[in-house]
Amino acid sequence: MIRYYSTNRFRTGEGFPPFRQMISFREALLMGQAPDGGLFMPDRIPEISLSRIAALKGEPYWRAAQLVGEYFWGDSVPAADLEAIVREAYNFEVPIEPVADRRYLLRLDRGPTASFKDFAARLMSRLMSYFLPEGEKLKVLVATSGDTGSAIGEAFKGVAGIEVYILYPDGEVSPRQKRQLDTIGGNVRSLVVQGKFDDCQNLVKRAFLDPDLAALNLTSANSINIGRVLPQSIYYIWSYAQVARAGEPLVFSVPSGNFGNAFGCELARRMGLPLRRLLMPTNANDEFPELLKSGSYRKVEPSRKCISNAMNVGHPSNLARFFDIYGGNIDRTGEVRRLPDLEEMRKRIFSVAVDDRQTRQTIVEVYQRYGVILEPHGAVGWKGLETYLQEEGYAGPAISVETAHPAKFPEEIESLLGVHPSVPPSLRGLEGRKGEPIPLSGDYGSFKDFLLAGDLPG
Ligand SMILES: *Cc1c(COP(=O)(O)O)cnc(C)c1O
Repeated sequence: MIRYYSTNRFRTGEGFPPFRQMISFREALLMGQAPDGGLFMPDRIPEISLSRIAALKGEPYWRAAQLVGEYFWGDSVPAADLEAIVREAYNFEVPIEPVADRRYLLRLDRGPTASFKDFAARLMSRLMSYFLPEGEKLKVLVATSGDTGSAIGEAFKGVAGIEVYILYPDGEVSPRQKRQLDTIGGNVRSLVVQGKFDDCQNLVKRAFLDPDLAALNLTSANSINIGRVLPQSIYYIWSYAQVARAGEPLVFSVPSGNFGNAFGCELARRMGLPLRRLLMPTNANDEFPELLKSGSYRKVEPSRKCISNAMNVGHPSNLARFFDIYGGNIDRTGEVRRLPDLEEMRKRIFSVAVDDRQTRQTIVEVYQRYGVILEPHGAVGWKGLETYLQEEGYAGPAISVETAHPAKFPEEIESLLGVHPSVPPSLRGLEGRKGEPIPLSGDYGSFKDFLLAGDLPG
């Protein structure tokens, strides 16, 4: 059985005693974050044979989820239940678009909120509901800079026993994203915070560690929850099987903010996915490429505002997992206790910062050259791939991940390309939806009071 440990288990001399227990997936999922502020990590990563991976060729996406799920949850979720869960979670298409010679775009934008976050959110909500003891209540807190919130909100909408609170920074999400967040309704409420995304994330993280709130059964649906990260390994395995010859190493480019998506790829590599290099391009929030270059870590504070707004993160929360798996330790404030094995990291990971000018230029060039429409996040991914190809003279197969649908950024696309991206069904009819956010100052005390005030009306 796979057990889960906290990345802070060996830390000493801080306010919170290190959490030394090894717990089950169910416990880690429902706790969200470890009580010592660390993130949960599997103590063992199961190995999936190449033949099982290759056998996914031509299979529907949910088959890959079933395969990975069998290794991670097979001991507690019977096969028939697991199959029902993944078939229901993954009821939409996952296009792999050939762009140039053996260069592909993996479009993870066909879920209900048109971002890749639907993949993890839909599986996690179903697992949480499956694992929640009868009669118990759970409050899910989620900080978002755009897409996480609506993906989580939609995925949990109507799930019995669970209330969801979505915190987002005032003025930093697009009008369409704002409408998506404010109008989910029912057991899902949005809170608009005076501050940046990092402030939202800090409010949520503090609430989890606050002993006064322990009775509220708070949990996280951010990518600090291991239940969000594990499902994000699945599409790498599935898409590999669709485009690569068995055993052939592949490059993935993953546009990164909090690094949860990229960590899914790191896990897939350790499960046995033949990966030549994991590319983790960022926007102007360049703390990670700078770490690889200089060997010292400095978070970007405050985070820089870029058009790829879901990646405006100055201190990625899943960096703690990358540090841990490469032998280092970093806490949630960005203080490094032990550096990871940077040599090893540089061998396996490539990272580069892509600013807004390059992002826009990439959107234009890719459209002119290939007739393919990218949105800002996917453009950061594609530019990262191009930079790598140039620097390394690599000519083998590569997949760049498109994390959102271009129709979520119509103004930007229209001003750059003069075309209106077609709107997928999931984004239609937003204008008719009603709902207002609850305003919140960035102050922790008022957030705490709000949470203590009780359940949602109705
Ligand atoms: C969340 C998000 C990202 C960044 O993913 P991380 O897992 O936080 O690195 C990239 N693109 C889009 C569209 C997103 O919503």
